Amino acid sequence: MILLCPHCGNRDHAEFSYRREAAPAPTIDAGEKAWFDYIYLRRNEKGAHRELWQHTAGCRAYFVVVRDTATNSMIAAAALAEAPAITATTAAQAVQ
Ligand SMILES: [Zn+2]
Repeated sequence: MILLCPHCGNRDHAEFSYRREAAPAPTIDAGEKAWFDYIYLRRNEKGAHRELWQHTAGCRAYFVVVRDTATNSMIAAAALAEAPAITATTAAQAVQ
């Protein structure tokens, strides 16, 4: 699989490390269950999935990837500062 680092361009997936689902964090007062779900539970959905990756063998930057879990293809990538504009929904609409 080829991943697009927003800073370095296309690179082999071996240069990258998956970090976690890029779900929005709960508010500080959301409660123990909301934080437990955020830290430990994954949705594992089929289709467009928003994830946090790090280019560990390159620039070491963290960035957001929208990946199709059914085909394992990368739909979109953005630096963290630009990531709020990319969601699983908008990325899925872009490929249709
Ligand atoms: Zn990079």
